[in-house]
This record gives sequence, C-alpha cells and structure tokens, in this order.
Amino acid sequence: MPRPIRAVVHLDALQHNLNIAKASAPNTEVFAVVKANAYGHGIERVYPVFQSADGFALLDLAEAERLRALGWKGKIILLEGVFTAEDLEICANLNLCFSLHSQHQIEWLEQFQQINPDTKFDVYLKLNSGMNRLGFQAYEYADIFKQVQALENVRSITHMTHFSDADGQRFGQEGIDYQYSLFKKITQPLAGQTSVSNSAAILRHHSHIQSDIVRSGIMLYGSSPDYPTHSIQDWNLKPSMSLRSEIIAIQDIQAGQSVGYGSNFVAEQVMRIGVVACGYADGYQRISQTGTPVLVDGIRTETIGRVSMDMLTVDLTAVPQAKVGSEVVLCGKSSHGTVLPIDEVAAGSGTVGYELMCGITARVPVQVES
Ligand SMILES: *Cc1c(COP(=O)(O)O)cnc(C)c1O
Repeated sequence: MPRPIRAVVHLDALQHNLNIAKASAPNTEVFAVVKANAYGHGIERVYPVFQSADGFALLDLAEAERLRALGWKGKIILLEGVFTAEDLEICANLNLCFSLHSQHQIEWLEQFQQINPDTKFDVYLKLNSGMNRLGFQAYEYADIFKQVQALENVRSITHMTHFSDADGQRFGQEGIDYQYSLFKKITQPLAGQTSVSNSAAILRHHSHIQSDIVRSGIMLYGSSPDYPTHSIQDWNLKPSMSLRSEIIAIQDIQAGQSVGYGSNFVAEQVMRIGVVACGYADGYQRISQTGTPVLVDGIRTETIGRVSMDMLTVDLTAVPQAKVGSEVVLCGKSSHGTVLPIDEVAAGSGTVGYELMCGITARVPVQVES
C-alpha cells in the first residue's frame, strides 16, 4: 500500500466557483487564471470545467501549449508577456495573446514584424497604476499606446492593470480607489477593451468597476481572497482541493511528556495523540504552529508539536473514537462532508491559501472527484 496521503480535486466545486465568478461579473468575459499549474490543481484536471470560461490566463509557454494540446481554441493570455524575442514565434504558432509591460518587449515585436509580416497579435498593454511590478507609467502610457497602435502586427490592444490592494484598504481608502481612478483617467480617452479585476476585485468591487475582461484566480479554487475579512462561506465558495491522509499510529502520553522534534509541545495532562502521514515533504508548512486546525473523522481538532518531513501529530482529545486508519483532512472537505477552509490552515503558518495550494509536492498522488 502506498502512504495514505492524497490530494482530491473536486470538479463540482470548481464549477460552482466558476459560476460564482460569472454571476459576480455579469456581462463580462471571465478568464480562468491557471498559472502555477492551475494553482497546484493540474491544468489537465481543471480543464473539463474551465473550458466553459471565456479564456485562460497564465505565465508559462509550456502551460499554454498544454491547453492547446487539450483542444482549447479560445483565448489564452500570457500575463507577463514574452521573456525573449524567440517566444513571439511560439505565440504566433499557438495563437497566444500577451501583455506588453516594457519597452524591450515592444522592440521585439517590431523586429518580429520585419521577419514575419503576416502574423497579427492581440496584445494587453499594461499600465503600472501603483503596484510597481510590471507596466508602463501613467505619464508615458498614451505615447506607448500610440507606438503600439502603429505596429502593423498588432490587431487589438486591451488596456490592463493589476491591483495591489483589492482585498483591503490602501492608505485609508478602499484598496482599488487610487489605481482604478488613475486607470480610468489614462485609458478612457484611448480606444480598446479593458481588463483590471482579480478575484478580490471581482468579489468586493465589481458593481462599480467597468471592465470587459476579469481575471479570476484564487476564488475559482475555493480560497477567499480577503480572508479573514471574509471566509469562503461568506463568498459562497467551495474548496476545490482537499489534502487527505490517515492516522498511522496512536500514542497515549502522560502529563509532562513531549511530542516530536525539539520537544516544543509538552502535554499538560494525559492525552491521546494521532500520528498522521503528512509532512513538509508533502507541502504541509513546517512553520505551522501547534493549534493549526485539522479534521479527524470529520471532527475538528488541531495539530500539536513540530511538523516533520513525513509526519505530523494531532490532538485526539475531541475524537476519542479515532483509530489507525481514521481519515485526516489537512484542508478542504472530509468524506463526512465537513469543510476545513484552506485559508484557516494557511493562517496557522502565517501565509495564504495561494501558497499552500501551489506547494503540494509531486509525491502526493492526486485523485479527481466529479
Ligand atoms: C495571478 C493574477 C491574477 C489572479 O489573481 P487572483 O488573486 O488569484 O484572482 C490576475 N491578474 C494577474 C496579472 C495575475 O498575475
């Protein structure tokens, strides 16, 4: 028997969450962001559901190629654009759209036109409205737009920006206010469609954002973009991946006995603990603290002591009937129906659902449930 750990991808939850994105951004094209191998879920696994999205957004040419191999004929956008001039050749062959965020990418496009005069691209011109990662500054944007518009191999230009604080406040205002007003001011005089919102903006701000294309990522995977302000229950989202394992040993320990490396958990009274086949080599964060929630037989309890490479330990006080082979859910949905949102688990190690999803390691077998 292999180790009992596995990740389960829930197709019904992906579908439900995509429906929520569509309902939250009506009359808008909803793109599914599938970067980082669909936030750790596997592009091939999510594709049967996400093929009903209006397009895909990702970073990596190899991932775009996998989408084409699955039969996707619609839009694919490279969120960071091309990384080399040669990438444009692949974009032409795979019919990919891409962002233009820097002058060197525009130069590559000009050079490409000399050699391939017949290829036409749909591009996403990126305004740096305040995030200060990628994009052109507000003062230069209109000139850059004219420069790109003049390229014969550019068929359409969509204006794009990305919010740094759509999940909260920025300098005492709603987090999108400054960036969105700047975006409107700069792009409204120019022709072209727009794409601004990520999940947090879709859920929190869509009623007052006008945009033709939204880029929904984390919400599709059942994590709340603005946790702890809102939970997935508040947003009516469902976990799309569960990390499940089993209890492989039980210890009854006395007051004063310690558990695990570093002996940093010491029992205050007699207690029963379960040893779970899941460790940091599976992607469970070693830094997560005693008290991180976990479900045993569908009942909520917590981790104790340090996470090891292949095992972690849980308090079985709340689950006296637990035995070797009892189901343990590290995040997601138990087969008893109880839900442990990934956001609560991530909080136990000071991180976000995004990082845990992307961090499940290759040794964890994945199972798809419809
Ligand atoms: C990752 C990403 C998104 C999706 O963000 P979520 O918070 O996961 O919805 C949207 N736009 C860009 C440019 C991104 O890099």
